[in-house]
Amino acid sequence: MSLLQLRDVAVTYRAASGEVPAVRGVSLALPAGQALGVAGESGSGKSTLAMALLRLLPRDARVTGEILLDGEDVLGMKWGRLRAVRWASASVVFQGAQHALNPVRRIGEQIAEPLLVHGMATAAEARRKAGELLEHVGLPAWRARGYPHELSGGQRQRVMIAMALACSPRLIVADEPTTALDVMIQAQVLALIRSLIAEHDIGLIMISHDLSVLASMCDRLAVMYAGRVVESGPSREVFQSARHPYSRALSEAFPTVGDPASRMAPKGLGGDPPDPAHLPAGCSFHPRCPVSLPSCASRDVELWPVDESRGEADSPNAHTAACVHVRPEGVQPAEGGGDHDGPAVQPAEEVR
Ligand code: ADP
Ligand code: MG
Repeated sequence: MSLLQLRDVAVTYRAASGEVPAVRGVSLALPAGQALGVAGESGSGKSTLAMALLRLLPRDARVTGEILLDGEDVLGMKWGRLRAVRWASASVVFQGAQHALNPVRRIGEQIAEPLLVHGMATAAEARRKAGELLEHVGLPAWRARGYPHELSGGQRQRVMIAMALACSPRLIVADEPTTALDVMIQAQVLALIRSLIAEHDIGLIMISHDLSVLASMCDRLAVMYAGRVVESGPSREVFQSARHPYSRALSEAFPTVGDPASRMAPKGLGGDPPDPAHLPAGCSFHPRCPVSLPSCASRDVELWPVDESRGEADSPNAHTAACVHVRPEGVQPAEGGGDHDGPAVQPAEEVR
């Protein structure tokens, strides 16, 4: 059984200006102890998806589909159960989380808090554990007596990781955990996360706009565009031989040296990602796609195995992409639809 299983998860915000479908039909599985990277430009729905996993979204967000954590239905959980699951089974390290520390409380108290709240330790045990957790993330135990302002940004992010580890969760969701840090510190924090998840056999969902970082840390990658997963597969395959033209552009993008927080322009792509409230018809990527066909303006294509000999789209090893060049029959007329004659389908061309 997967540690985490998502089936057809959709999130719609009800904004004053109308509905915003921020996540659309995402299905993913994460086996225990594995790392899954979620990539995509700003606005592609990554944080919305991360927050949906533990129901941390604001009230105006409607979540549908199925989210199973260790087989348990997260969307159906009562509040008491949900509170127990947060931290104890799964914890989240947010983008810019280092700013979430309380400036007037000692660091050790803040790390110990989830242990106390969940009744997992006495006050004395929690204090000792806080010191151990700090050492675990590469900070001296005496820092527990200090305050957040005495630490650098990278050290504060280490504290947030220590907090996320406090209750020995089986899953950590890390949403751009290093985006606000400088390049050297970024590499250190990523190496720390990687060694901790391996050591403790923790499942990781790591979110980033940087496909190269994800490829170096994760077993599998999922690339999101306009709220959908457009490609998913083993990390190296997706990074080195992406089959969706959007993943390919992301894999060829590089962060601006010295400015890791900069939004990278994916190579060869003009324009901006679409506003989810006004998605283009057909494949939402087609207006920016360098290899689109006329049919892409009216027809979307589901995720499809890039190599059918390797089995179904939902097998654990699958590499899938939602592109007409991977599934050319996707441009055939819809059943019963008379509005679309379907142009003569070109043979699947190798787009790389
Ligand atoms: P990412 O993390 O990939 O940058 P987000 O999940 O933050 O993307 O956002 C996805 C889309 O949802 C964006 O278009 C964003 O503007 C929209 N969005 C996020 N939060 C809200 C909200 N509370 N109300 C309405 N729209 C939102
Ligand atoms: Mg985000």
